[in-house]
Order: sequence, then C-alpha cells, then structure tokens
Amino acid sequence: MTTNTKNLSYFEGKIVPAEEANISIQTHAFQYGTAVFGGIRGYYNESKQNLFMFRLEDHFQRLLNSAKIMQLQFDKTPRELVSITLDLLKQSNYKQNIYIRPIIYTSALQLSPRFHDVKTEIAIYILKLDDYLDTQNGLTTMVSTWQRFSDNQIPTLAKASGGYVNSALAKSEAVQNGLDEAIFLDSRGFVSEGSAENIFLVRNNEISTPSIVSSILEGITRKSILTIASDLGIKVTERDISRSELYIADEIFFSGTGVQVAWVKEVDRRKIAAGQIGSITKQLQTLFFQIVRGEKSEYMSWLTPVY
Ligand code: PMP
Repeated sequence: MTTNTKNLSYFEGKIVPAEEANISIQTHAFQYGTAVFGGIRGYYNESKQNLFMFRLEDHFQRLLNSAKIMQLQFDKTPRELVSITLDLLKQSNYKQNIYIRPIIYTSALQLSPRFHDVKTEIAIYILKLDDYLDTQNGLTTMVSTWQRFSDNQIPTLAKASGGYVNSALAKSEAVQNGLDEAIFLDSRGFVSEGSAENIFLVRNNEISTPSIVSSILEGITRKSILTIASDLGIKVTERDISRSELYIADEIFFSGTGVQVAWVKEVDRRKIAAGQIGSITKQLQTLFFQIVRGEKSEYMSWLTPVY
C-alpha cells in the first residue's frame, strides 16, 4: 500500500475505515451462512495509470441473481452497486492489482435459519491480490472424495456463503494430500468444477466444459473464456464430462476470478499430456491477461476504469 492508499470498506450504507467495518457475533449470516457474495478483480495498468475492474456490472448482476434465488431482500440495482464501488475505489486510491468482495448478508441479530423476513445489508471490502494460485507452473489436483452439492440441496447458481463449507472440505483434503486443488464430481458422478473455479479440458483441439446442470457456479471468467475461445475460432462445447476423460485430456485448465486462467499438470497422480502448458491454454491465458490489463481494444467494454 502506498502512503496515499486508504484501507476503506463499504459498511451499513457508508464508506468507513476498514477497521470500523465489523459485525456482531450474533449476526444471523455469521451463524447460518445466510449470505451471498461476489469476488471481482481490478488490474492496475502502469502505462495507462488506471485500475481496470473486470466485468463489474456482470458480477453485480450475478450477486443480485444470487440474492433473488435465496430470497434475500435487497433493493439496489447493479448500476447503483457499480457507482458505490467506484466511489469506494476512488477514495481508496489503489495503484496495484486488487480484489473486491461484496457480500449481501442477513444482518439481523437473530436466531432461526431462514431467508424470509430478515434484515440484510451489503458490505464491500478490498484486498491487494496478485496470483491466488500459480498460473505458470501447473497445478497438481485430485478428484475430491467430497461430492459437489446439487442444485436442490443448495442452489448452485447462487454464490452462497454456506455452500463454501463444501469447497473448504475439498480444498483442505487436496492441500493436506500435498496437492494444489480439488476437482469435484457432481451427484451423477460427472466432472463439476474446482473448489472455487470452473474447469475446462482440451481434446483434439476442441474445448469442453461442464454445463450448468453439473452443479457448477456459472463463472463470469468461464463465460469470458467461452467468448474468447469462439472469437479465436476454437470449438467449445458445454457438456457432461466423465472422470476418466480428465486423465486422457490433452490440456486441462481452471478459470475463475481468483485463479484467473491456470493450467493443470496432474490429476490423481496422472500427468496431463506432456506435463507442460498446452498450446490452447497458453493462447487463452495470454489473451486473457492482455484483456484484463486493458491491452486489447476489442474487449475494453468488459472493463470499468476507476480513474
Ligand atoms: N466456481 C466456484 C465454486 C467459485 O467460487 C468461483 C469463484 N467465484 C468460480 C466457480 C468462478 O467464478 P468467476 O469466474 O465468476 O469468479
């Protein structure tokens, strides 16, 4: 943080110093996970002296969809949330890569797990963030012994806080086994996603990724990769993927706000192809990093400049 950067948060309708944005231990969402959240990256472009927020309005639209699915009462529009965020970011004055976390949570100090008839608030905080997982050296993974929860258990298209217990179990299992990341199967036994990222595989120069019926979160980065790949003339199919197809894939990569675009070198001790980044993954990753940094004029509509 430079001396001109301020650590601020949006809390209870105001921009406040981050250390003042605290909730009570009696908060409903803290007890029951009754909250929905987002994660949005901002990339600082040194030569343009600007911070570019990636698909800000799309992220807020997904946040509001998550709230709607869960029946959380919330009345702000994506536009209003964009404007609050830009205000917060301008006052914070970051000149580096950041990550923001908006969360709509049940703020009442009450018992009884429910979504109806509970007061909500939105909070937004900012972190400095470069890579969350390594994007260059290849990730080691395992198919988790934990199954991805399905849509009729916890709605999978909502990014709901309580659902991350499932992610935490899978992530810990993978890391405690000396690996970087977990891959979930869905309730039918097909490939779903990583603990906090979507998954793609490449076979015979074509890309496949699980569809939304495989209990995935519909990632904004995933949607961007689908667009970029088809702009590059690469065939992409959303379909059911069998576990054993992972082992014989030519390339596998993850996409997500945190993970960005990161390649997988190993699944369940089986090396993927030559154990090096594949050419399609490399092409997509390179273009993705150019786009998010504001170096590709064709994709500038995905970025909101802060300054
Ligand atoms: N799946 C899960 C479970 C996630 O937590 C995330 C991260 N938000 C993703 C996929 C990727 O979504 P996005 O590209 O919108 O960040």
